Formats: sequence, C-alpha cells, structure tokens
Amino acid sequence: MPEIITAKTAGFCFGVKRAIEMAEKLLDDPKVQKPIYTYGPIIHNDQVVEELASRGAIPVGREELDSLPEGSVILVRSHGIGRDEQEYIESLGLRIEDATCPFVKKIHNIVRDAAEKGENVVIVGDPGHPEVRGIKAWSGKNTWILPDIESVSDLPELKSVKIVAQTTFNCDFFEKIVENIKSRCYDTSVMNTICSATQERQQEARSIASRVDAMIVVGGRHSSNSQKLFQICRDVCEHTFFVEKASDLGDISLPDARSIGITAGASTPGNIIREVLINVRTKF
Ligand code: SF4
Repeated sequence: MPEIITAKTAGFCFGVKRAIEMAEKLLDDPKVQKPIYTYGPIIHNDQVVEELASRGAIPVGREELDSLPEGSVILVRSHGIGRDEQEYIESLGLRIEDATCPFVKKIHNIVRDAAEKGENVVIVGDPGHPEVRGIKAWSGKNTWILPDIESVSDLPELKSVKIVAQTTFNCDFFEKIVENIKSRCYDTSVMNTICSATQERQQEARSIASRVDAMIVVGGRHSSNSQKLFQICRDVCEHTFFVEKASDLGDISLPDARSIGITAGASTPGNIIREVLINVRTKF
C-alpha cells in the first residue's frame, strides 16, 4: 500500500469558516427574519450550499434582489462586494450582514485610498472572479486587471502604479507579473495581498507534490484557489489529479505509486476530504 501524505492546510480557511459560521448563527437567531439570503453561493461547494439552503439560507443573484421582502438579511460572502453593490442592496431596504474576509477588506481599503489620491492601480488576478470584480469596484477609474504575464503588455505607459493581488493568486506567477510591470514602470508600490492561508497552502502543496509519485487535489471545479493548487502541484508532479469528491477517483489508476499526496482547496469541507482519504486508502 502506498504511503499517503495529507496536507495539514487542506480544507476550510479562516475566511470560509467565518462566513459559514455567520450563516449558521443568523439561521439560529430567532430574531432574524427567515429565510436569509446569501449574495451568490456562500462557498464553491454544492453540498454545503444545498445544506444551508435547506435550512433557510438561499443564494440569490443581483437580478433577484429587488424582489426580496424589505428587511431581509443579505449575507455577503467572503469574496466581498463593490461599493456600488453595497449601496444598491441598502437602497432596497435589505439588511447587509458582511462576511467579507478581512484579508479581502484590507485590499478594498488599499485601492479605495489609492483612488482617493488619484493613483494608478493594477490588480493581479482573474477579471471574472467575484473577489476581483469587488476589488475593482472599490478602486478608481485608472485600474487595470492583469491575469497573466502576457496581459502586462496591455498596460499603458505609467509613471507610477500600486500593485495588489487577488488573495488566492499563485505566489510565483504574482512575482513574475510584478517583475514584468517593474520593467515597464519606474515607480511601483507592490502590496503582496495574497493571503497567508493561501501562501501556506500553496507552499505545503508544492512541498508534498515534489516528493510523492501522485498528487490528488480536492476542490470545487469553480474554486479559484483549488485550481491554482492543481497548477502548482502539476508543475512538480506529473501525476496530479483534480477531484471534486471521492467518486471521481474511479477513473484514476496508479499501479506504481509508492506515495500519494492529498491536498484540498479552502472551500472543501472536511467530510469530503475524509471520504477521499478513505477511498485512496482502499483503492490504491
Ligand atoms: S482564501 Fe484567504 S482571503 Fe480568501 S477567504 Fe480564505 S482566508 Fe480569506
């Protein structure tokens, strides 16, 4: 049987735990009007979202907000939202409960201050990710979102720029993108806002993946941080697999693996990690 190494950092991060605990507390509070609503799925995990929905925490999108009863609670998830969305929700007479992760809130404050001073801002991250859209909405009009090294060439000539990162961005890619920006811009102020939970998880995943024969990353398909873990592990371990749940292990064959590593994204619940671990133990 192969040796199995499970990452200590696998599973819920501080920000995700906090958001789920806030949802549970609101659901248990008899003074809170039910159902409550989460602005988008609270985490990138269908089981957790469905379980919370069955207890009365319903995910809604922007287009549904104006049909909600006045006074309803809207729980903002850890990704955060922009100032415009916040004001829109408040204008509808809805009550915001804010589970924005403090690491994300810190970036909102950095770019808001930069906007007030008229500074240029680069956000290194995925333009389609809700966290990045929220950050952009707190920033000024001179803001660019760069998802990769190639996109640095889209940046106009700038004398100075403040650089921040999506909290779950790949640390190595961030450094490379920053180097490229520095070669085009004299005065750069770099705020590495990749959160410590992400950095530790990525470092541990890379370390395990570099010494095992196969690596399994457990996470939601739409989870940005899980996808980044997969990239990182695959760079150092050819036999890296992405699974959402234990049954996805069915197609994987590892006859020669003497060691298997397991890690998981920040929105992967402990019970799914445990099921994968049990299945890896019995299958390989
Ligand atoms: S990944 Fe980091 S920034 Fe995102 S919710 Fe978790 S702790 Fe917060």
